[in-house]
Amino acid sequence: CGIVGYVGAQTPSDRAQEVVISGLRRLEYRGYDSAGVALVAPGALLTMMKKAGKLVNLVDELEARPLADATAAIGHTRWATHGAPNDLNAHPHLSEDGKLALIHNGIVENFAVLKQELLADGVTFLSETDTEVAAHLLAKELAAAGDLTEAMRRVALRLDGTFTLLAVHADHPDTVVGARHDSPLVVGLGEGENFLGSDVAAFIAYTREALELGQDQIVTITPDAVSVIDFQGEAVEPRRFTVDWDA
Ligand code: GLU
Repeated sequence: CGIVGYVGAQTPSDRAQEVVISGLRRLEYRGYDSAGVALVAPGALLTMMKKAGKLVNLVDELEARPLADATAAIGHTRWATHGAPNDLNAHPHLSEDGKLALIHNGIVENFAVLKQELLADGVTFLSETDTEVAAHLLAKELAAAGDLTEAMRRVALRLDGTFTLLAVHADHPDTVVGARHDSPLVVGLGEGENFLGSDVAAFIAYTREALELGQDQIVTITPDAVSVIDFQGEAVEPRRFTVDWDA
């Protein structure tokens, strides 16, 4: 339901977690039933925490069992469509090797077919969500393509339904990759850091400079760059705008 992504300075800090939690807080008005974050730090370290219920449950858990400082982060508030609102079904969802974390807004209409394909590959599913197929599919496409952005593009082409997807990978602590189809995603431009949100409210506390993504696009952010392609792989020049409302 609410989606936030962040990538910042090469040195891990608590800012990554702070940005995604504050972003999720600003998206709370949209309603949700559970919340989660995944953080990545250099040294192939990916950590995750997710909790059913209000955001405060997640925040309390993060205080009790702090995650490592990070350079990249994604955060999600879920409005369950497939699978009960519990800890396991909350996002992020991980690949089997635990190196990749993915969050999703929307519905994957063809998840049953994709799940059959992945089960035949021997993949073990941990949740009842439609979303989990996208996490395993992204890991599979990454193994084939060797590039996170290209893997995300291939996943986007295989999903029917509506989606905003964000993913981080332990081997890419300077990158968040996203995709959108019939579901919103905007980029916030910082200095030495960049943001993604399902709504500008997600990053308005940090920057008012933004890029509008079009329908069916893939975005890759690093601390110093934002690149956008369409689902065919062609480069896209997104429209830049300044958020002019008070938040
Ligand atoms: N369909 C997904 C789920 O039920 C995502 C729901 C959402 O947009 O939050 O987990």
